[in-house]
Amino acid sequence: MANVDILVVEDEAPIRDMLRLVLEQANFTVRAAPDVQAALKILETKLPDLILLDWMLPGMSGIDWAAKLRHDATYSDIPIILVTARGEEEDKVSGLDTGADDYVTKPFSPRELIARINAVLRRFGKGEKPALIQVDGIVLDAEQHRLHIDQRPVELSPTEYRLLEFFITHPDKVYSRTQLLDRVWGRSAYIEERTVDVHIRRLRKILAEFGRDAMIQTVRGFGYRFSTQSH
Ligand code: CA
Repeated sequence: MANVDILVVEDEAPIRDMLRLVLEQANFTVRAAPDVQAALKILETKLPDLILLDWMLPGMSGIDWAAKLRHDATYSDIPIILVTARGEEEDKVSGLDTGADDYVTKPFSPRELIARINAVLRRFGKGEKPALIQVDGIVLDAEQHRLHIDQRPVELSPTEYRLLEFFITHPDKVYSRTQLLDRVWGRSAYIEERTVDVHIRRLRKILAEFGRDAMIQTVRGFGYRFSTQSH
């Protein structure tokens, strides 16, 4: 199973360390930040599968950040669990449209936290990632980064692999070049949008050898979509 990557944003170091320990023991990969600013830096490198976000943070609060992420196309499908203190905050969170997908109230047991995380991941289809991603004769080995089409091994560059993996795991949705850059290359990569076109062309050429190039569809004026159905 490929690892599920969780970003923890918590300003209190002892709690942050406790969360890291609990999550790592449950086999999650953990990255942690003390505030939103540091969390944004982490998001630039690679998007996590879930964000565990403390409500009370210095600077921007967790709840404000959750609302912001919800309205940003790059981040809007990352599930967020808000962490609150018992009392007032709890009532507010439960009654508000916070942008968070669930919340846990301190103090919570490790077991409760892991159960909540797994439930949210399942809801988002982000539970344990299968080692093999398969669609229509295309098989990606997520651990070894290998591709087979119609049982034949196919050479791919790491970028082309990530691009194909992103497409296959996000089918039937249109992504702009900017969104693809953010999601496949990462925000820290300052790459021109036409780089996306270059890699799409290469990927299509490879897929064409197997009669599958129509799976990557150009949506004029917007971007690209991966689909096993013709549109
Ligand atoms: Ca706090």
